[in-house]
Order: sequence, then structure tokens, then C-alpha cells
Amino acid sequence: MKMKKSHWFLYLSILTVLIYGCSKDENADNTINIFSVQDDIAFGQQMRDEIHSNSADYPLLSETQYAAAYNHIYRIRDSILESGDLKYADKFDWKVDIIEDDEVLNAFCAPGGYICVYTGIIKFLDNEAQFAGVLGHEMAHADRRHSTDQLTKAYGIQLLLGIVLGNNQSQLAQIAADLAAGVAMLAFSRDAENEADEYSVKYLYNTAYDATGVKGFFEKIGGSPQPPEFLSTHPNPDNRFDHIVEVWQTLGGKTGGTFEESYNQFKSSLP
Ligand SMILES: [Zn+2]
Repeated sequence: MKMKKSHWFLYLSILTVLIYGCSKDENADNTINIFSVQDDIAFGQQMRDEIHSNSADYPLLSETQYAAAYNHIYRIRDSILESGDLKYADKFDWKVDIIEDDEVLNAFCAPGGYICVYTGIIKFLDNEAQFAGVLGHEMAHADRRHSTDQLTKAYGIQLLLGIVLGNNQSQLAQIAADLAAGVAMLAFSRDAENEADEYSVKYLYNTAYDATGVKGFFEKIGGSPQPPEFLSTHPNPDNRFDHIVEVWQTLGGKTGGTFEESYNQFKSSLP
């Protein structure tokens, strides 16, 4: 039997995972990701479809009715994209959905750059730099492809065997459905968290925002009575605050604005 070229590649990938998988330590820069960038986009689109078809769990704010709120996020998102530090700024869609639930302090960005923000987290934060910091952190998870890194760890070999045996279609669909059901979410590793913090600072550094905005968010949730949903998928690495400040100082320690006023306008554009 003649083996397809793609199958050879997959066998090699399995070998690579088997050989290196066990000896590698958890490092977001060195992890093996068996998925293609196109897979990230496909996963994200499927998750977005699930979210759009499940209004009970994901009551989305209408973009036509709340155009002002969406435009605030687009403006902040675009200034992050224009930082020039995102690898997939042009390749991913970076679509935004606002989920109407004031009780949920969460935001996430599905693979391929599909951003979801709960009204709860928008209302919880005090200024636009904090929000931009959180958005930058989420966008970094997508741009650094942390989800499919994690997926490779969680499903890698099993999935590869499925693909090689030629029956992976339903498996891929099932994984995407699982992801959307749990909202993505395999918790990120602490290394991925550090990297997302680091990139949030890098993205914001060349904008008008205080580049350490994400630190303000983590300080604020650290003081909240119940650990919010955010921390269940974004575990706190050690020395998180020191690390954020360190990255900022390495870049030059430039101060930026917090923009309370425009942030209050953003909040008041929500229901
Ligand atoms: Zn995170």
C-alpha cells in the first residue's frame, strides 16, 4: 500500500511527540504544536458558531443595537493590532462578541483570534488601560497559539493516531464542541500565562495606554471575595506582578494613560 505524503508527515510528528514529548518541560516557547495555523482558525470558527447558536449559555449583545459598545472594543483592539507585535494581526479575523452577563468576570479569545468579553468584566474594571491589558493578554493567548499547544498536550498522540487511521473528522469536531461547551478551556499553563502577560505589556507599550494595565486587573481580582471564572482558566503564576513590571522596565519604563473618561463612556454604552 502506498502511503500518502501527509501520512508520512504525521508518523514523523508522532515520533517527534513521542521522543520529545516526555522530556520537554513546560515552556510556551518550546512546546510542540501539531496543529496548523489554519486549524487554529477552524477551531475558533467552530467555537464561535457554537457560541452564536447557544443563546441560553451565551446571551450575546446585539452588535446593531449596541454598536457604540462594540466600537469601543474595536478601537482598543485595533490599537493593539497596530502595535506591530502580533504575528497573526492580518491573518486572524479578531472578531469580537460581547456576552451579556454582569455576574461573570471573564474574557477569552478562542484560537484564531475570536474574542469574547463578558459585560461583567467590563463593568468590574476601572479604566481603559486595565481593559486593554486584559484584551492584550487574551489576544496573546491566540496569537501565541497557546490553546493548540495545550490541545497537543491533551489530545496529541490520540488525535494523530485518529488522523493516520483516517477517521479523525468527527474527532476534530468533537474536540471543538467540547471546547466550546467548556468554553475552551483547558486551563493554560503558568508559562503560557506569563507569556500572555508579557505580550500584553509589549502590545500596549507602543500605544497611549499604561502598558502594565493587565497588572491592575490581576491586582483588582486578587482582592475580590470569590475567585472569578477568569482564574480557573488563567492560573496565577508566581511573581506575576514582578514579572509584568520587569518586562515593562526592560522596554524602557515609559508611562502611559489610563483613560477613565472614555472607559466610563464605554461602560455606559452597555445595557
Ligand atoms: Zn491567560
